Amino acid sequence: MTFTCVAGLGVSGTAVARALAGRGERVVVVEAAEGERQLAAAAELAGLGVETRFGTMALPEGATRLVTTGWAPHHPLVAAALEAGVEVVGEVELAWRLRPAQAAPWLALTGTNGKTTAVRMLTSILLAAGHKALAVGNVGLPVVRAVAEPYDVLAVELSSFQLHWSATLAPHAAAVLNVAPDHLDWHGSMEAYAAAKGRVFERAGTVIYNADDPEAARLAAPYPGAVGFTLRVPKPGQLGVVEDLLVDRAFVADPVEAAEELATLGDIRPLAPHNVANALAAAALARAFGVPGEAVARGLRDFVPDPHRLALVERVGDVDYVDDSKATNPHAAAAALASYPSVVWVAGGQLKGADVDDLVRRAAPRLRGAVLLGADRAQIAEALARHAPNVPVVDIADRDTGAMEKVVIAAAGLASPGDTVLLSPSAASLDMYPGYPARGEAFARAVRGLKERAEGAV
Ligand code: ADP
Repeated sequence: MTFTCVAGLGVSGTAVARALAGRGERVVVVEAAEGERQLAAAAELAGLGVETRFGTMALPEGATRLVTTGWAPHHPLVAAALEAGVEVVGEVELAWRLRPAQAAPWLALTGTNGKTTAVRMLTSILLAAGHKALAVGNVGLPVVRAVAEPYDVLAVELSSFQLHWSATLAPHAAAVLNVAPDHLDWHGSMEAYAAAKGRVFERAGTVIYNADDPEAARLAAPYPGAVGFTLRVPKPGQLGVVEDLLVDRAFVADPVEAAEELATLGDIRPLAPHNVANALAAAALARAFGVPGEAVARGLRDFVPDPHRLALVERVGDVDYVDDSKATNPHAAAAALASYPSVVWVAGGQLKGADVDDLVRRAAPRLRGAVLLGADRAQIAEALARHAPNVPVVDIADRDTGAMEKVVIAAAGLASPGDTVLLSPSAASLDMYPGYPARGEAFARAVRGLKERAEGAV
């Protein structure tokens, strides 16, 4: 009989323990932190017969399987399981294996950046087409909680961590948005990171990839019939853009002769090149599921962007203050910086082993100033000194709760009318904040304070 050890009492771990206990399986959860939230979760699970062991990372004696939500292979618990020959599976893989025979098909999407945006666009399109659809996975809702529910289709966001621990997923269709360096500390190398992303294609019914992204195209190359999408005019077999229209030349009766108009660029919000790519990925997955063209336009118009993704906070003295706190790697920050002509850039945090040289070199002509904060700000300062030596840089060494106020005051000092002050940190936030939302909220609060003072001064 299976005896499962679940790694941690996070949202996914708790959902896994519940699902397995509900099937009468033996489950032990191991959890390092004994906080209020963990104790409450453990008490609830105890009612279902699940034991929680606090303060230990030892694999329980006799465990036949370890379920992790995305812990690294070198984590001591995971390493111990691998060493002992105990099977290690991810929460997503477990959900796949537990799904009932008539379960909803999956439309899976991965990429370094834009996953949540594209999966939410996809869900909006599926709903517009009248399907009972739900966004699950890395968007925040564990797949294991939805997999047996009566949905027509699931829009599944997958991270590289989740894919690393998923060996048998066979989605109806799968898309890769882009692949750029991120999480290299977890995966060990760019090759391993890209390989994890590429796993999403292995058993997919239809393979969909960003033809403008060389690494995504490389991952799709072994699959005949793979469908590319591009910001350029599409070739037969692709989706793309013709003037201001999103056009499908793949999921049509005759891709050589025919093209179907799906939506206009005006249906996409905010309208920036990377968001057109997100819309195309969503449209391609929906089309692979048989969604009619007109539902794509309606779904895109209904879509509401999540916070902290190029969100305009305020305009103060003809300067726009934009919160893109979700840009936790250089590739995301590059897309954000390319969306504005004249930028005071707020950046810094944990770079997770990523290199910012290329990003800074490309962004240099748009930069009017930079304000740096957080752990790895010196690395960004060095890149600025190399590639943008004339751009004024303010270094904020503070790590306390008042740091963001200093950042915003410094940014305001560097900005001229018409500029955009852009928080697009290119780095993770955990050195200073509980997560990217808290960082974005601190920025927004500081900007509102600035606005109040500016108005008070008039
Ligand atoms: P993810 O779920 O992959 O983290 P999000 O949709 O939450 O992606 O967006 C994360 C960050 O990446 C945001 O800062 C956003 O501005 C930027 N971004 C969104 N889509 C793309 C894209 N296609 N390419 C590059 N950057 C993007």
